[in-house]
Formats: sequence, structure tokens, C-alpha cells
Amino acid sequence: MHQSYRYAKGFAGFGAPESRQSLYTFVSRFFDDERLRRAFSVPSLLVGGHPFHTSSLYGLIHALERRGGVWYPKGGTGALVTALADLFQRHGGTIHTGQEVTALRVGYGRVTGVEVNGDKHHETDIVVSNADPLHVYEKWLPMGHWGRLLNGFRRRMKQSMGLVVVYFLTNRCYKELNHHTIVFGDTFKEILDTIFDDHDVPEDLSLYLHRPSATDPEMAPTGGDAFYVLAPVPNLQGCQDWETLEPKLTQNILLTLQQRLMPDLFEQLGVTHTVSPRYFHEALSSPFGSAFSIAPTLTQSAGFRYHNRSPHYQNLYFVGAGTHPGAGVPGVVSSAGVVEKLVKEDYAFGPRTFTSPQGKTTAL
Ligand SMILES: Cc1cc2nc3c(=O)[nH]c(=O)nc-3n(C[C@H](O)[C@H](O)[C@H](O)COP(=O)(O)OP(=O)(O)OC[C@H]3O[C@@H](n4cnc5c(N)ncnc54)[C@H](O)[C@@H]3O)c2cc1C
Repeated sequence: MHQSYRYAKGFAGFGAPESRQSLYTFVSRFFDDERLRRAFSVPSLLVGGHPFHTSSLYGLIHALERRGGVWYPKGGTGALVTALADLFQRHGGTIHTGQEVTALRVGYGRVTGVEVNGDKHHETDIVVSNADPLHVYEKWLPMGHWGRLLNGFRRRMKQSMGLVVVYFLTNRCYKELNHHTIVFGDTFKEILDTIFDDHDVPEDLSLYLHRPSATDPEMAPTGGDAFYVLAPVPNLQGCQDWETLEPKLTQNILLTLQQRLMPDLFEQLGVTHTVSPRYFHEALSSPFGSAFSIAPTLTQSAGFRYHNRSPHYQNLYFVGAGTHPGAGVPGVVSSAGVVEKLVKEDYAFGPRTFTSPQGKTTAL
């Protein structure tokens, strides 16, 4: 690991021939043991990519983690969301929740308003969208001939995989388990090929088990414990019937955990709640139900991801997993940092105005 870290420090990025190697091939240069090769290839899955197709650039995740550490927000990701919302409100922002954006109104190359719940309309100076850019272009914006052509191209971009996530409580505390545990299936490449290439559900499951109470005991109910376990699965391009598959997979996942890690799981099991690619599609507007938007292949990484400033509408900006620099909380928060810089750059001389041919003046 030490060697690969030193190597990553000297990594020259996109120009380096190594960037065309897969992460698995890259880590295999440092480890002979297949189990270590698998373990050190896993970071590409954390951003939605097949380790055998994802550029070794993502080996930099190891370097970042060694240098900066692995962080957990006390109270879980929800606490991070609440803290950001508080910060926004302290600066005078107003947040409206439970409102679905259904369209953007446009005119003269800019977005003029946001339509909410199919009727309510808000005038806007700037729109920063956190929804997947493909969803924005396909569902919110008017589509001319060029729009249809471009969306066809966008639809052909490689998508990340889907996830089945089972949240569950137990009646006893599992002190013997760490915060992070990966349970590998018997095969590795075969499972991933089935998911990414065949868009099928593998028989053999690989799981990630999360036990936040190992770091933050308040996450567990008194005397019990709280977990989520996730399994990579095909996204909706596989056309599976998730309504029937969801309960079956929940059972298989929990059974695998019982056989491999928690022998008394079914005796101790409390409430469970499962989400699948259907949830990512319906609740989070992910066009293909993929968990990390477009996959992090070399030609869909960094500047090749969706740009943070729309090339089509001058006051439309994008943040989130599908955009530059990429998926995961650090990537998504960085995309917001990039948008902040772009907006400051674009509006450096204060609000600009635009007068339409009809003589209507609006702020740009
Ligand atoms: C189980 C799981 C565990 C993870 N663990 C980690 C981890 O430990 N560390 C890490 O760094 N990353 C982790 N990730 C990845 C990380 O959570 C995601 O990459 C990140 O949340 C993506 O952020 P986003 O803003 O692009 O999308 P989202 O978080 O999905 O946010 C998009 C938002 O847009 C809203 N939206 C969509 N459409 C509309 C609409 N029409 N109207 C109004 N609102 C709309 C949605 O409701 C949603 O709130 C994990 C992901 C999963 C699924």
C-alpha cells in the first residue's frame, strides 16, 4: 500500500499512460494476493464504476484517504444535510421542501423561471440544479431537434450500477463488528460483469455492511444496533421487475449476512427497510435508477462529466454526482464549490440586465 501511495503522489493524471489502465490492473502491480487486489479495487465501486473498466486515476482515492483520513459526520449523513441547510438559512436563504420541480421556463438562451408541482411558477435569476443533468435536459427543458439529438447521445453514456440497500435494526449490539465491513462473494469479476455488462442480478452477492454505531454509539437504539447493508445490482437498464425482486433480494442479502458474518441475525432482527433502483429513479430522479449517475470511465471523468455551467443556458448551473468532478459526498460538495466560483466569475460586475426585443428588462 505504501508503494502505491508513493506512486499515486507522482501520478500525472489524464496524460499518464497508467490512466488508461483499469484500477484492478493498476493495483495488481503491487499485490499478488487476489484478495488484496479485490480489496484495493473496491474504491471504483464507491463512485459507481466497474474496477476492471474504471481508470486507475481512481487509485487516487487511496492517496486521498491516507492523506486526509476517512471522515464520518456525527449523526450520519443526515446531520451533514441539516448543518448545510442551517448554514444556508443563516445566510438568509429560504428552503421549500416537498416541492417537485416539473419544468424550467426559458427564453433568449436563459432560464427565466422554475415550475413547481406542475403549476406554481417562481421567477429566477440563476438556477443551480442538483437533479441529474440528463433528467433536467429531458424532463424540465423544452426539446427541439438538437435537444433530442443531444439527449440521444446523453442516454448512450455508460451508467453506474444500481444498489439494493437494506436498513435494519437489531435487538442486540454487535460490538464485534467494525464500522465498515465488505463481504466478498466467491467470484469478483464474474459478479461485476453480470451487473455492469449483462445488466443481470448475480446469484453470488458481494456486500458492504455499515455499522455507524461503531464510531457514533448514538446511532443505535438503547441495547440494540443499527445497520445498512448494500449490494451492487444492475440499474433499470436490466428491465427487472423490482417490485417482486426487492423482497427476494432483501431475504438473500440478510441470509448471506447471517451465513458469513452474523450467525444469530434472524433471531435478533428488528425493523427492516429496503430501497432498490426503483427508489433512485422515482424518488431521486435518477434516469436509469443508477446510484452514482454516469459511470466514472476515463472518457466520463473530470472535465468529461457534465459541466457545472450549462453550455446551452447562460444562468443554469449543475451540481451533483453526474457533474464534474464526480460522485460521492466530497465530489458533490466540490461541485458546489466549483459552481460558487463560476457564479462569482459570471456575475463579478453585479447583476446584469437584459432587454428583450419586446422591451421587457430582466436581471441576468
Ligand atoms: C447507500 C449509499 C451510501 C453511500 N455512502 C457514501 C459514503 O459513505 N461516502 C460518500 O462520500 N458517498 C457515499 N454515497 C454516495 C453519495 O451519497 C452520493 O454520490 C451523493 O449523495 C450524490 O449527491 P447528489 O446531490 O448528486 O444526488 P442526491 O443526493 O440524490 O440529491 C439529489 C436531490 O435532488 C432532489 N430532486 C431530484 N429531482 C427533483 C425534482 N424534480 N424536484 C425537486 N427535487 C428533486 C432529490 O430529492 C435529492 O434530494 C453513498 C450512496 C449511497 C446510495
